Amino acid sequence: MTTPARVRFAPSPTGRPHVGNIRTAMFNWLLARHTGGSFVLRIEDTDVARKVEGALESILDGLKWLGLDWDEGPEVGGDYGPYFQSQRLKLYREAAERLVAQGDAYYCYCSPERLETMRAEQVRRKEPPGYDRHCRDLSREERAQREAEGITPVVRFKVPLTGQTRFNDLIFGEVVFENSTIDDFVLLKSDGYPTYHLANVVDDSAMKISHVIRAEEWISSTPRHILLYRALGLEPPSFVHHPMILGPDRAKLSKRHGAVSILEYREQGYLPETMFNFLSLIGWSLDDKTEIMTRKELVDNFSLERIGRTGAIFNREKLDWMNGVYLRSLSGDDFTRRAMPFLERGLPPEVKQPLDGDYVGRIMPLVQERARTLAEVAELTDFFFTDQLSYEPGLLIVKKMDRESAVRALEAALRKLEPVASFDHDSLEAVLRPLAVELGLKTGQLFGALRVAVTGRTVAPPLFETMSVLGKERCLARVNKALGILRRM
Ligand code: GLU
Repeated sequence: MTTPARVRFAPSPTGRPHVGNIRTAMFNWLLARHTGGSFVLRIEDTDVARKVEGALESILDGLKWLGLDWDEGPEVGGDYGPYFQSQRLKLYREAAERLVAQGDAYYCYCSPERLETMRAEQVRRKEPPGYDRHCRDLSREERAQREAEGITPVVRFKVPLTGQTRFNDLIFGEVVFENSTIDDFVLLKSDGYPTYHLANVVDDSAMKISHVIRAEEWISSTPRHILLYRALGLEPPSFVHHPMILGPDRAKLSKRHGAVSILEYREQGYLPETMFNFLSLIGWSLDDKTEIMTRKELVDNFSLERIGRTGAIFNREKLDWMNGVYLRSLSGDDFTRRAMPFLERGLPPEVKQPLDGDYVGRIMPLVQERARTLAEVAELTDFFFTDQLSYEPGLLIVKKMDRESAVRALEAALRKLEPVASFDHDSLEAVLRPLAVELGLKTGQLFGALRVAVTGRTVAPPLFETMSVLGKERCLARVNKALGILRRM
């Protein structure tokens, strides 16, 4: 029996939810669900300057969209709250004061100007950046003097000057940092807010987190956290740093690679099922070959051991392929229901809304097989909704035909179609196939010209089904219009 894990996702509300962060949330959620443990959502909102209006809502929105439900946190509460760090300031202050009192931290009065000059000097001398410990050993009098000047200090941690800090990462193994490379980092800022390091350690401990699962970019913070746990007499959790999601150029996935917010993928018409499956397989795998896995299969099979040690690439083609698989697996009704909002948003403005549900229901089966995203559905089907087709007249003249033969073909088609009472697949096929032979054309040529005339494009859903849904009146009108265009050419 595995012990139930208590894990947390700890986003900072600084922007829309990045797919990399969401994947981190997903690994945490999967471990919680796999072990029958708890998934805690904690909002790390202590960086007042970086806080973005609406960011919290969009993070919650992204998590909910993927079904990453949390057992404790905003909206649901829990025994270890509050779950907003901005509401826990007292705890951090107490921890910082305790560390000062026991000699593991100190007040620093350095002005921003002094720190700036120091930094510039370090750059000039090509030294590693970091606080020069100016205030580490101030005497009681020196401190009193600065207090008298009314300077509000920050609290810095007294990092041991020698020795090493090590921890065992469940993915990267033993990680060792030389203490001499860690500067005396700030714990409490002059505005009374804690830094990430202090708040993170205080809360992971107070919230009884068993595993900290986070991206590799935080690994260099972990020795500081270990030092803090030790100084506070607390037991550190297990650490699991996972590689980052990379773009095709193997750089960290960022805006210049395309969409990075999970909500953008929703807007582009990817299904939550797809995103869940796809993201969980970036850097984690069942067996190096299984691609399509349901949420339940992922929960049942998830294990930290199978998270890879190297960064994994966000493969857009694979995402499109997978979304197609999920779209095809939906029932017709479900597909239509999910495509509806994309149609309402994506169709040209002249299309009358609300759309006729029955009509939409007849169109959708024609594209469910071919759409890669729900947003694409509007592009693939707009000619069903609008008669304002705009196409290059030349498209009506199919390979190895000329204007005259195209006119002849469409005129003949009109004559044959006019008496057809019911525009169903079989009746259309019964008149149009023999017509190609009669005209001495390949079916591809005749059908190609007709396809452009009725849809305005060379690639469209199967012709007879398309004509059948469009109906006789619309089809004949469009063929007539095409003839007009050809004659004027
Ligand atoms: N607030 C940090 C973030 O924005 C949390 C990192 C961690 O999980 O410790 O990702």
